[in-house]
Amino acid sequence: MNDMVAGMRGWLEAAQAMQSDTVALRRAIHAEPELGLQTPKTMAKVREALKDLPLEWKSGTSTTGAVAVLRGAKPGRTVLLRGDMDALPMPEDTGLPFRSRVNNTMHACGHDTHTAMLASAARILCGRRGELAGTVLFMFQPGEEGYHGARYMIEDGLLADPAPEAAFALHIMPNAPAGVFGSKAGPLLASADEMSITVRGKGGHASMPHDAIDPVPVACEIVTAIQVFVTRRMNIFDPAVVTVAKIEGGSTDNVIPESASLLGTVRTLSEAARERVHEGIKRVAENVARAHECEADAAIERGFPVTVNDARAVALAQKAIAGLFGADAWRAMASPIMGAEDFSYVLQKVPGAMMFLGVCPEGQQWKMACPCHSNRMLLNEASLARGVAAHCAIAERFLSQGFD
Ligand SMILES: [Zn+2]
Ligand SMILES: [Zn+2]
Repeated sequence: MNDMVAGMRGWLEAAQAMQSDTVALRRAIHAEPELGLQTPKTMAKVREALKDLPLEWKSGTSTTGAVAVLRGAKPGRTVLLRGDMDALPMPEDTGLPFRSRVNNTMHACGHDTHTAMLASAARILCGRRGELAGTVLFMFQPGEEGYHGARYMIEDGLLADPAPEAAFALHIMPNAPAGVFGSKAGPLLASADEMSITVRGKGGHASMPHDAIDPVPVACEIVTAIQVFVTRRMNIFDPAVVTVAKIEGGSTDNVIPESASLLGTVRTLSEAARERVHEGIKRVAENVARAHECEADAAIERGFPVTVNDARAVALAQKAIAGLFGADAWRAMASPIMGAEDFSYVLQKVPGAMMFLGVCPEGQQWKMACPCHSNRMLLNEASLARGVAAHCAIAERFLSQGFD
């Protein structure tokens, strides 16, 4: 019955009535993308779009991001909705009329749509302020693409006073049917750390390797030894992915170089596996090198932590979305994805959930659609109304019922 009531509140109708605004804001942001922690033009567009609303704006010093606070007419719980704002340093080859006008910068991860959907949800929920018991925080966050923007906003105190009791985020996915939502309880996305290994030997003539210490075959052995470590020493039910994506050494055919280097990524689904794989990489690299009279330095730069969804938050989102669009609009994901998200920092502090929203372009098969981070990524803008409605329904449901 509650689901029926939520469905009858008209969130989708309200979102559809705002669809031209959502699309216009998305396209304006798309045409003028910004990178990293400073996205002032994007923020200005959001502020302009929402300037007449009864929102309190909080910002910090580390980023240009802001949290807009909507206080409902009555006191109650506090819920956070998040949209990220930054683009990627890459060329755009979509041919869209509103394609990026900024050289080598593209909204290829859909953060333009996340920001626009969040802005429209803010407008709709402000319109229902009189009925809301509690507070909604709209987190407009730059610096998701490797810049730890969410962590900086937390460190700036933007998620305190009022502190959210639940947090939700949507991420578009062109490789999923348009308008369908998906997520899962527990780990949804991986931790992502950068591994760099330098193997040092002794340079010399390529014809006389015994007078040198050749780091190249040792570096190659470390690449395979790491894969053996991952399959033999890591629990398959608490997995890790280690990919050496770059291998570099030497300058010409007749010189043994002094050193060789490896660069790669380390992904896990738990902090325990993360620590174990970090230790293992160092141990394997240093000892394989030592076996061949080389030295290896393995450095791991910690990136985003694991994104862990709270089971109650996923259940809430599923009910809210099923109430809006029917049970078919929700797909329970069978497994996590080994990509990473800095919404993980929010979910370390606040129980919540990230969900994917399918936006396969019209006329395409979703399995074949260009994915996020593709220079030709396209999406179905009509689906954005569903994302806006989902934001509203989820926030309203948490304020009125909590996780029950
Ligand atoms: Zn991305
Ligand atoms: Zn993204």
